[in-house]
Amino acid sequence: MIICVCFNSFLRKLNCFELDLSLVCNIMASSGVLENPTGNKALFIKTYGCQMNVYDSDKMAKLLEPLGFILCNSASNADLIILNTCHIREKATEKVFSELGRLRKLKTEGFKNGRNVLLAVAGCVAQAEGSEIITRAPYVDLVFGPQTYHRLPNMVMEATNSLKGSEINGAGIIDTDFPIETKFDHLPTDTKSSTSAFLSIQEGCDKFCSFCVVPYTRGTEASRPVEQILDEGINLVKAGAKELVLLGQNVNAYHGLSKSGKEWSLSRLIRELAEIDGLARIRYTTSHPKDMDHELIIAHAEVPQLMPYLHLPIQTGSDRMLKAMNRKHDVAFYVKIIEKLRAARPDIALSSDFIVGHPGETDNDFADTIRLIMEIGYSQAYSFKYSPRPGTPASNLEQLSDAAKSDRLQTLQQLLNEQQLSFNMRCINTSQKVLVERRRDRDGRLTGRTPFMQNVSFDGPIRLLGELIDINIEQATGKSLFGKVAIKEQYSGHVIMNKNYSEGRKHA
Ligand code: SAM
Ligand code: SF4
Repeated sequence: MIICVCFNSFLRKLNCFELDLSLVCNIMASSGVLENPTGNKALFIKTYGCQMNVYDSDKMAKLLEPLGFILCNSASNADLIILNTCHIREKATEKVFSELGRLRKLKTEGFKNGRNVLLAVAGCVAQAEGSEIITRAPYVDLVFGPQTYHRLPNMVMEATNSLKGSEINGAGIIDTDFPIETKFDHLPTDTKSSTSAFLSIQEGCDKFCSFCVVPYTRGTEASRPVEQILDEGINLVKAGAKELVLLGQNVNAYHGLSKSGKEWSLSRLIRELAEIDGLARIRYTTSHPKDMDHELIIAHAEVPQLMPYLHLPIQTGSDRMLKAMNRKHDVAFYVKIIEKLRAARPDIALSSDFIVGHPGETDNDFADTIRLIMEIGYSQAYSFKYSPRPGTPASNLEQLSDAAKSDRLQTLQQLLNEQQLSFNMRCINTSQKVLVERRRDRDGRLTGRTPFMQNVSFDGPIRLLGELIDINIEQATGKSLFGKVAIKEQYSGHVIMNKNYSEGRKHA
């Protein structure tokens, strides 16, 4: 029996490319339930990149439980160390190789003490670099991509039994297939969930934006079958989830098959998931403007569980650059979608990704981006300097200087920060419905999210964890809101919850 799994609650930011994420959860496994032939062993997973990687790391940990692996919060005592990597930007890849250099020392020390510490590289760097990782870091034991981690228990057994492992050379197992059978058919069922849980519904991408490695590392676009997603959603809610965040590299391109062989769109799937008893909130990320269909926009007006927040990246406000990026739409198309979304759900909060310094970007193109940001007004957004990725079309073009990219990024981020602060300031003296996700170690305060994805922290009893409560907002910064539990909850001594958990527009 798992006592505590809490990856997701650490990682509520909808886009986290700037963060290295150490998964520091403690899971206790009952040896009475699990077959445990090898005795308990410590597993440490460090996760880089997006929410999809967080989801994958969670599943890897669960897959390894039957082999006796228990998550620990430090690499230094671990028997198996997995780096679940991201290949989106160059820095992330280099960080992985320098981390491997550091981890090598642990492997060497382990050998001196008679322990074979296994070192694994998973995720998109593993997929893209494959055997190159073993060439550069021969002490690595396992290299496997995002589509083959369901084979991890076998790989670990093989590496453990392998006589090849030595202080210098690892077991050298590489599995970067794109197998016909999907990993989702082999993933373990969730028995304990965080309040907000990720649910992967779609993977890969066929859009081939000029700058992006995803189609090469995650493969072509594929949607999970409807039944499988509904089963996982129901299980997660039974296991304690109140919010489901549907994940996909192109999540709104979802077109999974139902039992009867019909294709379902994302909006249809959302409406069905909204029927799950006890599910309070639904979110989805990341969407592409081209796949924002009418039904999905209308779902924002009609499905109360669907939160009034959308991360809809445009990357640039210049038509010329959108074309160069192969984004398949222009600025007017994007603005029209935003208008429709706002007509359907006037209070919807918007987020985006922006890339500055893509090859060919001029001062005028950048000025167009600034103009667009001022026109739309974002509640938050993510921005990156363009990073050339090997094998992508834009990497072969003439590059802008790093100084030019840095200047533009600074200007852009200043504007986005101002918008985020002003969005948050407008919440002062309002009451917000907050889904309480965790208690902070550093000060014991509770934290959760508003419908608009804002972080809120406040003092309150631990029994509020996992509940939807009204918080009176008193202060705001760019990153967070601060408030107090509304009086009615304080005096009644228990949490007043809407019967069917739906929040309705009056709370938003
Ligand atoms: N599918 C989503 C879309 O098209 O909007 C985005 C998914 S992508 C994995 C996440 C974000 O990473 C992108 O929106 C983009 O802003 C950023 N990104 C991708 N490749 C990049 C690169 N080569 N340099 C800088 N940022 C990049
Ligand atoms: Fe990458 Fe998104 Fe473009 Fe696909 S649509 S190639 S995931 S940026």
